[in-house]
Amino acid sequence: MKTPVDAKNITIIGSGIGGLSTGIILCLLNYNVTVVEKNPLPGGLMRSYRRSGIDCSVGVHYVGALGEDEPLGKIFHMLGISVNDLFERMGLDGVIDRYLFDDFSFDLPTGIDAYEKNLHAAFPGDKTAIDAVIKNLRDISGRMLDPSFLINQGDPFKNIDYLDSIGEYLQKHDASIGLQYVMAIPAQLNGVHLADCPLIFHHMVLASYLFSSWRLKENGSKMAEVFAERFRHLGGRIILSDSAEKIILESGKISGLLLQSGKAIPADVIVAAVHPKVLLGLLAPEALKVSYRQRILNLQETEGVIVVQVSVDARRHQEIPHNIYDIHIDEKAVSPNGIFYQLRRGDAKGANLLSIITKSSYSEWSKWENTKSGLRGREYEEKKLSIAHDLLRNAGKVFGDLQDSKIIDIFTPLTLRDYVCAPEGSCYGVMRSVGQLLKIASLNNVPIPGLYLAGQNAMAPGVLGSILGSFEAVRRIVGQEKFAEIIKAMAAL
Ligand SMILES: Cc1cc2nc3c(=O)[nH]c(=O)nc-3n(C[C@H](O)[C@H](O)[C@H](O)COP(=O)(O)OP(=O)(O)OC[C@H]3O[C@@H](n4cnc5c(N)ncnc54)[C@H](O)[C@@H]3O)c2cc1C
Repeated sequence: MKTPVDAKNITIIGSGIGGLSTGIILCLLNYNVTVVEKNPLPGGLMRSYRRSGIDCSVGVHYVGALGEDEPLGKIFHMLGISVNDLFERMGLDGVIDRYLFDDFSFDLPTGIDAYEKNLHAAFPGDKTAIDAVIKNLRDISGRMLDPSFLINQGDPFKNIDYLDSIGEYLQKHDASIGLQYVMAIPAQLNGVHLADCPLIFHHMVLASYLFSSWRLKENGSKMAEVFAERFRHLGGRIILSDSAEKIILESGKISGLLLQSGKAIPADVIVAAVHPKVLLGLLAPEALKVSYRQRILNLQETEGVIVVQVSVDARRHQEIPHNIYDIHIDEKAVSPNGIFYQLRRGDAKGANLLSIITKSSYSEWSKWENTKSGLRGREYEEKKLSIAHDLLRNAGKVFGDLQDSKIIDIFTPLTLRDYVCAPEGSCYGVMRSVGQLLKIASLNNVPIPGLYLAGQNAMAPGVLGSILGSFEAVRRIVGQEKFAEIIKAMAAL
């Protein structure tokens, strides 16, 4: 780890959950903090948008571990943000996710005991594999509940056993194809195929939803505003509609940030809560060794998605308190061809919102790679609509007649690329696959004094992973000893 920096002015690039949570902690530690955001409104992927009077989610559909004694609940408490103002519990009907396969279904419940019971009932021939998975899951979830988890960052790179692929682990225990597919969903929530997903990331995501699962009470924009307001209240400054253009170095050290508007902000420390490839673009070529630069450029991204937002008649299609995954088993496929559905409260006029999400590769949209959002032309719009209609027809098999429903928005990997600068429209940033772990581990050691990464690319994706990435950035800025003191003091408040 770098020597802690004696900093006063800290500038954070990006106002997603990663940037704002880093900003809140640094303000609590009395630094002068400025967040720079290229978009007109703060929040990045956590922010929702409105179509036909309905709030549509982008990157927060459900979140785990927000209970009082659970990791994310404790973090929210430290940040001074009320969980209950923003979120409500899911799974009170006993189901968090329902996985629908062609000839069976599986329910993800709350709690490891209930999960174990459901696994044994669904896959009676898989006792050895299930026992092995549950043993690791209990160990990892126990560590996540340990008070030292936030201080040591639950450092995923510490326990070498858990870095192996969960897919290989299951095969070693002769898991049936059905069990492998059930286990493939938490891998997908990391943006990785089962065969490439490190066991630690798989089990951390799974454990967090098994602790307790939550949906937004209102919408992502409210969440974004609550985070932004908390940051401002603590003295933080947010500059909107101006993107970071160039990191200014003096004698190899950070001295400021130049914005697109021409404004220059003095800074002793810069935290890049953006993708590392975006960070590369902000540095002069000679600022980094060719090998480091190349390592970042060669990183494989997580896959993109297409998202279809549909307004449905609320009387005929009431809110469903759990999520649905529609999965077709194809033994030859590397990973499941799955579709995620969430049917939620919509607007006061009697419409609910059905969100449909499925994988969509960047290459599928390469024809429009050099176009901008809103200006891609008719052929692009037609292609989006045609995919959306196919997805809607498929949704009809799950939800019944959707004939009088209305598609109110469709977004593709290109939309995400343009909205938050996600290379290749990647959903969860760089891919945390077994093969890339070592390269990723070295990412956080940006070889420039005063420059740090935060957000989903610093540790892990998702709301929990991104905030853990922010904690990691702060730990590196202030040093382990001070960080441990601070976390203990914040936890006791
Ligand atoms: C479709 C989808 C569904 C998801 N669902 C869930 C879910 O249900 N639960 C969950 O936990 N996670 C979910 N995620 C993942 C989660 O949303 C992300 O992991 C998390 O929001 C990432 O936060 P971040 O701050 O790292 O990045 P971002 O939110 O991408 O923030 C980066 C910010 O930096 C800004 N920026 C970029 N370049 C510049 C620049 N040069 N200058 C200034 N600003 C810049 C961007 O505009 C953006 O605001 C989902 C993601 C997607 C895409």
